[in-house]
Amino acid sequence: MSGSTARFQAIQAVTNYTPISAPLNFSETPGSELFGTNVFNMKVMKDRLPKNIFKSVMKTIESGEPLGADIADTVAAAMKDWAIEKGATHYAHVFYPLTGLTAEKHDSFLAPDGVGGAVNEFSGSALSQGEPDASSFPSGGIRATFEARGYTAWDVTSPAYILENPNGTTLVIPTAFFSWTGEALDKKTPLLRSMKALNIQAQRVLKLFGHKNIPLVTASAGPEQEYFLIDRNFFFARPDLISAGRTLFGAMPPKGQEFCDQYFGAIPDRVLACMMDTERELFKLGVPVKTRHNEVAPSQYEIAPIYENANVAADHQQLLMLMLKKVAGKYGMECLLHEKPFAGVNGSGKHLNWSLGNAVQGNLLEPGKTPHENMQFLVFCAAVIRAVHKHSTLLRAVVAHAGNDHRLGANEAPPAIISIFLGEQLGDVFDQIKKSGTAASSKQAGFMTVGVDTLPPLPKDAGDRNRTSPFAFTGNKFEFRAVGSSQSLSGPLVALNTIMTESLDYIATELEKATGGDQAKLAGAVQVLLKSIINDHGAVVFNGDGYSEEWHAEAAKRGLPNNKQTIDALPAITDPAVISMMEKYKVLTPREVESREEIYFEQYVLTINLEARLTHEIAKTIIYPAAVRYQGELAAAAANCKAAGVEFDFSLLSKLSSLIKTLNEKIAILEKLNDDAGGGGHGVANPKKASERCAKQVKPAMQAVRAVVDELETIVADDHWPLPTYQEMLFIK
Ligand code: ADP
Ligand code: MG
Repeated sequence: MSGSTARFQAIQAVTNYTPISAPLNFSETPGSELFGTNVFNMKVMKDRLPKNIFKSVMKTIESGEPLGADIADTVAAAMKDWAIEKGATHYAHVFYPLTGLTAEKHDSFLAPDGVGGAVNEFSGSALSQGEPDASSFPSGGIRATFEARGYTAWDVTSPAYILENPNGTTLVIPTAFFSWTGEALDKKTPLLRSMKALNIQAQRVLKLFGHKNIPLVTASAGPEQEYFLIDRNFFFARPDLISAGRTLFGAMPPKGQEFCDQYFGAIPDRVLACMMDTERELFKLGVPVKTRHNEVAPSQYEIAPIYENANVAADHQQLLMLMLKKVAGKYGMECLLHEKPFAGVNGSGKHLNWSLGNAVQGNLLEPGKTPHENMQFLVFCAAVIRAVHKHSTLLRAVVAHAGNDHRLGANEAPPAIISIFLGEQLGDVFDQIKKSGTAASSKQAGFMTVGVDTLPPLPKDAGDRNRTSPFAFTGNKFEFRAVGSSQSLSGPLVALNTIMTESLDYIATELEKATGGDQAKLAGAVQVLLKSIINDHGAVVFNGDGYSEEWHAEAAKRGLPNNKQTIDALPAITDPAVISMMEKYKVLTPREVESREEIYFEQYVLTINLEARLTHEIAKTIIYPAAVRYQGELAAAAANCKAAGVEFDFSLLSKLSSLIKTLNEKIAILEKLNDDAGGGGHGVANPKKASERCAKQVKPAMQAVRAVVDELETIVADDHWPLPTYQEMLFIK
C-alpha cells in the first residue's frame, strides 16, 4: 500500500465517519449507574457474602491482615455466581510480568460431571492460586528453564472484574506472579511488599506525633496518561509503527506544534467519541477516570483518573492502557502509547502523582494553610526530600528504557537530572529552617485581581506550577514526571515507596532517640532533625528552569547525577545501597534485584535490535525502490528532453542520485551491525555488554540511515513516497 493510498483511505475514514455502533446513551444509563457494574467490589461482596466472611475480606483489604484459607471457597462460590450472571464462561488470572505488559491465562468454569454432562466449577484454590508456565516470561536468570513452574496468587486488595467481549465475558482476577522458589517474577509482588514496608515506618512516625488510632497507611497514585491517536489506515501502512510502536522515519511536516493551537484545543468529533466510549468502558470497570484533553503535540491527548490506593491504581492503569487500545480500534484509530512515536513533536509521559495517608490522619503530604506550623507535614515532606536526594539515581533508573531515552533530557520532558520543585511557599519555609533552624511564617497566596469587575476575586495557589521539574510538589502530593507513557506504574511506585520507607525509618529512629519517648521533647527534636536533613539533602531542591544550560552546570556543581541514557541509568538498580535497602525492607531480595537489572538491559537490547532490523528492512525494501523509481522517472524525463531538444535541469536528479548512493552506504553499515548481532528471539547472552554496543554503535547507525531517508522524503515526488508522512498521520483526524 502506498502512502497516498493510505492517505486517501484515511481521508475517507475521517470524512465518512459515523459512529460505529448505536451511539452511547448517557441519559439512559448515566455514568453514576454504570460505575463499577463489572467489578466484584465491596458492595457486591457485602450483598453476596455471609457477614463474617465479608468482614474477614474487609479486614484484609483495610488492615493488610492475611486472609484465612477457609474463606477463599466461600468467596470463590459467590464470585462464580456473580460472574456467570454476567455472562462469564471463563475466569482468568491476570498478572504483570517484568516486560511491563499485562498477561492473562483463561480457564473455563466448565467441568465434566461424570455422567456425560458438565457443571460450572470454581473452587477457593482455583481462585487463590494458578499455575501458568513461567518459562516464556523473562526471569533474569532466576528460573532455570527446567523449573518452569510459575504461580499466580490472588491479590485480595485489588478487586476482580468482568471483561466483556461480544462473544461472552471473562471473570478477571488480579494476581501476583512468582517462581516455585517464591521469587517475584512480576511487578505487583514488590509493589505489595513496598506498601507493607511503607505502612510500618509511617506508623512509627505517626506514633511519635501522639496519634493513637492509626489505620493502615497506604501510598496513593494518580497517573496522567498521555497518548496519540492516529487513523488506522496510516498505522497499518507503517511497519515501524506496527512492530516498534514508533516511527523510525519521517521528515518534519511544514507545520508542527509551534502554533500552540493543540493544547486544550477543541477535540475532533471522532476522537471525542472514542474517548467517551473508552471512559464508559473504564467506568464499568470501576476505573475513576476524570480528566481528558488535547495535549501539546498534534493528535496527542491525555486521560487522567482520580487517585487511588497505589496497588489498585497500578492495576487500573494497565486496564486503562488496554482499553485505550481496544476502543480506538472500534473507531478506526490506533492508540500509540510509545514515549516518542514521532520525532520533533512532544513525546508522551505518564505523570505519576504520589502521596501517602489513611482515613484518620488524612493525606500526610497536606501542608494546610500554614505549613511552617505543621510539624508533622514538614517531617513527611523532609522525608521525601531526603529520599529523593539519596536515591535520585534509583528514581532515574526506574524510568530508564529505550522509549524514554527519546524523551528524558530532550528539551520537552523533564531533564535526566532528578531534582525536586517545592514551589515558593514551601521552598521559603525550608529556606528559613536552613538559615535559622525554625520557620516563623508561610508566604500566603492571597487573591489575584484580574481587572474585570464581573469576575470574582480568584484565590491564588501558594505555589506556581513548574513544568520543567522531574519531581514537583503540587499542593498535597508529589508529581513524578519522568515516568514514560508506556510504563507500568509499579516500578516507579516500588522505588518511591521504598526510598520513603527508608527515610521514615531513619526519621523515626532519630526522633525516638532524641525524645526517649517524651512527647514534650518532640518539637525540639523535630527542629534539629529538619535542619540537618535540609542541610544534607537540600541540594536536590531546585525551583528554577530545569531546561536551562545554567541548571545543568549548577546541578553538576551540586553533585546531582545526570544519567542521560538507559545504559548510564540502569546500573543504579544494583547499587549496593539499593540492594541492601530492598533487602532490609523485604521488598526485593538481592537475586530479585539483580534479575531485574538483567531483564531491563535485555529489554533495551531487544528493542534497539528490533528497531535496527526494521530500519534496515524499510530503508532497503520500501524506501530505496521508491527513490530509484523516481530516479528512473527523472532520467527518462532527461532523455525525453534531450530527444525533444529542450534543456533539462539536472540538479534534482544529481541530488537524488547522490542521496541514493549515501543511503546504500548507510544501509550497508547497519546491515553489518545487524548481522553481527544475530537474529532476534534467542535471548541476549550478555545484556549489559550488548546494550553498550546498541547505544554507541547501532543507534547512531540507525540515525544515519534515517537522516538520508528523511532528506529523500523532502525531494521524492509525493506520489512515489511509500510511507504515510508526518503531515498525514498527525493532521488528518
Ligand atoms: P494537576 O497535575 O494539573 O495539578 P490534578 O490536581 O487534577 O492535576 O491532579 C492530577 C492527578 O493527581 C489526578 O490523577 C489526581 O487524582 C491526582 N492526585 C490528587 N491528589 C492526590 C494524592 N493525594 N495522591 C495521589 N494523587 C493525587
Ligand atoms: Mg499534573
